Order: sequence, then C-alpha cells, then structure tokens
Amino acid sequence: MIWYPYEQMKTMKPPYEIVDAEGVYLYTGDGEAMIDSISSWWSVIHGYKHPALTRAIKEQADVFSHVMLGGLTHKAVQKLSDKLASWLPGDLNYCFFSDSGSVAVEVALKMALQFNVNRKDGRKTVLSLTHSYHGDTFKTMEVGDDEDYHFAFGEKKGVIHIDTQIRALEEAFEKHHDELNCVLVEPLLQGAGGMRMYDLAFLRRARQLCDQYDVLLIFDEVATGFGRTGYRFVADKVLPDILVLGKALTGGYIGHAVTVAGEKVYRGFYGDDSSLALMHGPTFMGNALACSVALASIELFEGQNYMAKIHRMTEVMRREMCAFFSPKVREVRIMGGCICVEVNDRADLVGYQEFAAKRGVFARPFLNCLYAMPPYVIGEEELVKVLSVMKEWFA
Ligand SMILES: *Cc1c(COP(=O)(O)O)cnc(C)c1O
Repeated sequence: MIWYPYEQMKTMKPPYEIVDAEGVYLYTGDGEAMIDSISSWWSVIHGYKHPALTRAIKEQADVFSHVMLGGLTHKAVQKLSDKLASWLPGDLNYCFFSDSGSVAVEVALKMALQFNVNRKDGRKTVLSLTHSYHGDTFKTMEVGDDEDYHFAFGEKKGVIHIDTQIRALEEAFEKHHDELNCVLVEPLLQGAGGMRMYDLAFLRRARQLCDQYDVLLIFDEVATGFGRTGYRFVADKVLPDILVLGKALTGGYIGHAVTVAGEKVYRGFYGDDSSLALMHGPTFMGNALACSVALASIELFEGQNYMAKIHRMTEVMRREMCAFFSPKVREVRIMGGCICVEVNDRADLVGYQEFAAKRGVFARPFLNCLYAMPPYVIGEEELVKVLSVMKEWFA
C-alpha cells in the first residue's frame, strides 16, 4: 500500500496511473493523453523520454550505476562539477552533491552555521522570508514558513521571517545583525508558498547588507534554477555565497541536488585542522546515473538555446492572459516559465484537476493558486491549450 504525499488517505481521489510519457504528454491506463502543465513538480524541463537524456543514463548504466564518493570518485561526477563550476556565475565553484533538494538546503545551512563555528563567530540565526518553502526535513521546515508544518514546532527558534520588502530587510539587519548567520531565500519566485513574485532590488539590497555585516547569502534555486524565472539562474544577477540546485538539475530523470559554495565559504573549511571539515555525506551523493543525465541536461539547455524558448513562453502567456478577467481572480502573475492565477477563495479551485484532465491537461492547484510551469519544450499550441483550459474554468 502506497502512502501518498500531502494527502488525507481516507478521502484522496485515486491518482492517475501513468503507463507512458513522451514530450509534454502523460498517457494514462485508459489511453488518455494529458499535457503535464507542471513538469512533475517543476523538474521535467525537457519533457519526458528525451532521447539524449535517456541515452546518457543508459550509457552510464552499462558502465556502472553508482559508486560512493567516500574514498572513490568517477568521471561523471568530475565532468558535472567541472561543468557547473564553469557554467555558474562568479566563484560558485565547489559542488557538494546530495539526493534531494531538502537535503541540499540542509547542507547549505550546515555549511553556513559551521562556517561561523570554524571562525569562532557565535552568530547562528537564519533570516528567511514569510511564505518561504525550503523542503520537508526538519531544519528546512524550521526556516520555512508554511503553516501546514507548524505542528512540528512550538515557537520556532533560530529563525526570523520577514516580508519581501526592503524596509523589513533593513530593519532586520539593524535589529539582529549581531546574531545573524545567513539570509536564505528562494530568489524572485517563492514556489510552494504560493507562487509569490518579488523584485530583484530586494536581493540587491540583501547582498549589500550581507557584505556590510559579514553575513552569508544563500539562494535556494531548487525551483527557480535553470531558467524558470526568465533568468538562467537568479544568481546570474545577484551573486550568493551558496547556491542550491535540485529539481530540474537532472531534467527530472532522477532525484539529485547540489549545494554550490563560493570561495569564501570553501576557504572557511580549508586548512590543516580536520575538525574544520564539513561532516556530511549522503549515501547516494554524486550518483553516476544522476550526474550523467544532469550533464546531458545542461548540454541541451545550452546547445538548444533554452532561454529563448522560455522568453517565448513568457510572451505567449502575456498575450493569452492580457484580456482575461474574472471577479474570482485576485491576480494573474507571470514570470519566465511560470504563470499563477491567484483566486480570492481557494474553494473556487475545487474540481479543477478533473475539469482540466477531461480537457487533456494535468494540473494540480494548491493553496489559492492555479498555476502552470510547463516543460520548456512545450509547443505554442499546447501552451495556448493549457491557458485556455484555465480561462475556461472561470467562464
Ligand atoms: C522542492 C523544493 C525543495 C525541496 O526539494 P526536494 O527534492 O523535494 O527535497 C527545496 N526548496 C525549494 C525552493 C523547492 O521548491
């Protein structure tokens, strides 16, 4: 018996059984085709069964699927880390791999906290955003701000939450700079907290204040990385000290994530004293299948000008939604390859999944958000269909 995620098992509707998938389409056991408008939790950026990705993983499987990184290394992880080091902005050169986004955020926080321990700096507090989501493990729940998880904590310690306003940021630094260890954000687009979008100016100011007070800046780009905001990485615009990537890293083929540190953080652990070392090591970090497919994914992203595809998606979304209005809708937000139609009353989204499925679109609204984050390979006609079904729901 499978225990499904985020569900009351007693009342959940049976999930759609997928028997095949190709491009943007999911095929169910009943022979229906649905466009996956949310890329399997935002990860399948090249669509399903992409020949180049499938080839990469098969070729590696013929050599070996996995060896641990404890005392061993291999070509696939070396090539991927070299690629990331040269492809990512600034001095983000030091790649620590793990098996999921949550663990990679844990690693980022552990790095930031131990960075201060190593330099005998007592500051431990994390500054993060209201409505932030950083994963489902305990420390990530603690720094996140999702009321569904508050059962796990009484009063949260070690974290301060602020809104995405520059004034709130400045006040937090004025008041708390003598306890702040790091600032952790989902840059520009807060995903699971409700597809909230905010301004680059906030991040620029965060960078300045972090420099001024010697506080580390961490970008959780597990969701935003690889073009989703319309920037390749938000880190291209504002350079963090630590960058976390997941979800689309492997093109959605297999779970993997990476925490990438800049020079300053790496130096904080480097030395003759073994007690300065980072004490972490997920069993499947640097998995060879994951690294091979991640490298192939990056090569596709670069070689086939994905940023142009994403900009085209933004244009189509703007064009299709510009005349849209419904009294039920509070706001339509579009950024890069993401659209969110926020309703006033979340009850107005009940039944949407079935409505869309009947029309050949797989969707999964949450909170008061009806949203789409399609694979970047989606054709214009298919994207128009995803948006038309959204509009039709409110007609
Ligand atoms: C999904 C997500 C995570 C968690 O990643 P998992 O692979 O599900 O553990 C962390 N941060 C952000 C911003 C995410 O969207």
